[in-house]
Amino acid sequence: MKNNKGKKRLVIVSNRLPVVLTENKDGGWSIAPGSGGLVTALAPVLKDRGGVWIGWPGVEIGNDEELEALLESTTGNQGYTFSPVSLTREDVEGYYYGFANQILWPLFHDLQTRCNFSPAYWRAYLRVNAKFAGKVADYINDDDDYIWVHDYHLMCLGRELRNIGVHSKIGYFLHTPFPPLDLFLKLPWRFQILENLLAYDVLGFQTQRDRRNFVQCVHAMFSDVRIKGRSRILSTTINDRRIKIGNFPISIDYDEFAQKATDRDVKKRLAELQSIYQTQHLVLGIDRLDYSKGIPERLLAFRKALEMYPDLRNNISLIQVVVPSRENIPEYNDLKNEIERLISEINGEFTQPGWVPIHYIYHSIDRTELVALYLAADIALITPLKDGMNLIAKEYCASNINEDGVLILSEFAGAAGQLEKHALLVNPYDIESTAEKIYQAFCMAPAERAFRMRSMRKSIKQMDIYWWVDNFLKAVFMNDDKGFLPLRDYIPTAALLSV
Ligand code: UDP
Repeated sequence: MKNNKGKKRLVIVSNRLPVVLTENKDGGWSIAPGSGGLVTALAPVLKDRGGVWIGWPGVEIGNDEELEALLESTTGNQGYTFSPVSLTREDVEGYYYGFANQILWPLFHDLQTRCNFSPAYWRAYLRVNAKFAGKVADYINDDDDYIWVHDYHLMCLGRELRNIGVHSKIGYFLHTPFPPLDLFLKLPWRFQILENLLAYDVLGFQTQRDRRNFVQCVHAMFSDVRIKGRSRILSTTINDRRIKIGNFPISIDYDEFAQKATDRDVKKRLAELQSIYQTQHLVLGIDRLDYSKGIPERLLAFRKALEMYPDLRNNISLIQVVVPSRENIPEYNDLKNEIERLISEINGEFTQPGWVPIHYIYHSIDRTELVALYLAADIALITPLKDGMNLIAKEYCASNINEDGVLILSEFAGAAGQLEKHALLVNPYDIESTAEKIYQAFCMAPAERAFRMRSMRKSIKQMDIYWWVDNFLKAVFMNDDKGFLPLRDYIPTAALLSV
């Protein structure tokens, strides 16, 4: 179906809808729009083209009409809607907590020993992907709509849609890393997952590394499939159907963070933070509670730095923010205990009157606090064991308007592909060398800090979240094989698609 401007509609599908539903004291529900970069970037495209965002609302409301009305009130009359997929408790257990979070998440972050390969989870995953497909098919009424599926929860959705006769173009973007062949082969459903992915028309990965891993898996497991090309977008043909495979590093709304850093509220909070943390240097770590983020390893590296370089003592503090996540899974609770034990050990060992080495925050923080912390910290210590991208790294740079911060970044974060030349790269498993990098950052002269930070900010500004959306959509809808347009020839998607 075309919208009233004659353009094709866009159907976004993700595990979660970008809304926050909260139960009120009177038993009713209130709703707030989500605030992530993805929704910020997609809302204008949805508004322009019309369409729908389909996903699980994250809670069970019981009353579908109330839910639909609440969701409608969020987007108002902006030309697009949010449409809920209702999941039972059993669905959530098997598909979300099971297959997605106990199989795909650890395996795709190279942590295979944390996987629980339960066949019941696989069955739930297929069942729920089919449920999503039914919802999408209800909405599609001809093959003109464009469908864009997001992330590891919905790898089988494209094929389910094909099975029920949907012929629209379907793009898929994987927000996590894609594992190397040897690890992927451990997955009992490796053939099914690859076959399902190959049902999409465009497959988007975060980095070249992820795309290369995927291509190697396809070549190793399907000897008759050849993926060709040298540009940023590769392609293959299966049963006369062309599939494009590209890498599109996701990003942030750069201008929003740079602007926010000049806000009065942020400046006020920054002044408060500076008077609270009166050490010479502040190091910042911010992560969701997750074993892929390498928080214990980071704490060990910070301790090692204090041991190896006594002049750091009294002069440097780490602020570690941990945002609660997946608390229903026992492993996450164990991780929280480990983090808290390490912090108390390190603080117990090194604290002196007037100086505490590690300040620990275990709750989510609002945008003002976040940007004030980015500004207060002159070193960001971002050391995931593996990460699809890591937006904290990009937000830290975008907010660093004084260009005096140093980014220490894991070489296993997707962001390293883009920032490797000017960040201080570390192997998070190498505790001593990470400690050395902390000291190098501590000692870095202002001119070098400025040069490195300026270069990183320029790159993030050029390839922001709008660039990401436009480039993915161009890959889906353009017939040629040229891949990325050079930035100077950058044509906004809205203009391109109205042709
Ligand atoms: N963030 C948040 N609440 C907080 C702290 C951070 O929502 O209390 C945001 C942060 O601004 C960033 C995102 O969470 O956009 C984290 O993204 P990242 O890619 O670093 O990690 P993920 O959690 O997606 O694995």
